[in-house]
Amino acid sequence: MRCVVANWKMNLHFAEASNFCAAFAEDYTPVEDVRVAIAPPSILLWTIHSQLRERGVTTFAQNGHFDSKGAFTGEISMSQIRDAACSGVILGHSERRRMFDETDETLAKKVAAAQGCKLLPLLCIGETMVEREREQTFSVIQTQLSVLKGVSSGPIWVAYEPVWAIGTGRTADARQIHEAHHFIREELRVILGEAGSAVPILYGGSVNMGNFANILSVPEVAGALVGGASLDPTAFAQMVKVAQSA
Ligand code: PEP
Repeated sequence: MRCVVANWKMNLHFAEASNFCAAFAEDYTPVEDVRVAIAPPSILLWTIHSQLRERGVTTFAQNGHFDSKGAFTGEISMSQIRDAACSGVILGHSERRRMFDETDETLAKKVAAAQGCKLLPLLCIGETMVEREREQTFSVIQTQLSVLKGVSSGPIWVAYEPVWAIGTGRTADARQIHEAHHFIREELRVILGEAGSAVPILYGGSVNMGNFANILSVPEVAGALVGGASLDPTAFAQMVKVAQSA
């Protein structure tokens, strides 16, 4: 299975999202075994769902709270995300870790809450440049993956996103991606047992039309989490085609 997920972050308004869907639908033909998801700002989730559900495109939230309801102004719960027809939720994106103090402890609760609501957690992990230079890449990844210990073995996707490659135009090279994905696969097998072999591991970090085919040819890369380039429907449709023909 291949997976291509658009992370729109805090971009686009209703009309722009609607135009995106219309343009994307023109270029997109679903293919079995290639999953396509869009993670817009939560206020746009229903817009995307209503325009693209018949094409088999699913929606992911970009974050969710682990409590089921209550006095958490500004938050949305996993069951509300599910109720908005999402199939998944991005968790642990480096922007949330860095700017909103998301911790591994909180993420463990979020992964469990998402699975409890039948949402697919897409757990983002990856090292900063300082950590890479200090040769801490594998230990950082190991710690970030440890949130999966004790979590039931429901479906989960993982995205390896070196922080230094996100939004910088600088991608990890094939060797760096291979090393990291191979290490993640081994860790997933240790934590999840046999189920760890089936977890799709996506790469994220400045993926675009020009580099996606090469990235996808790296062993253990099941697809991509795409930020900036996913805001252009033609470019995103093109990347989906790359995944479909890989
Ligand atoms: C991301 O936000 O997850 C991401 C990978 O962004 P970009 O593709 O813009 O680097």
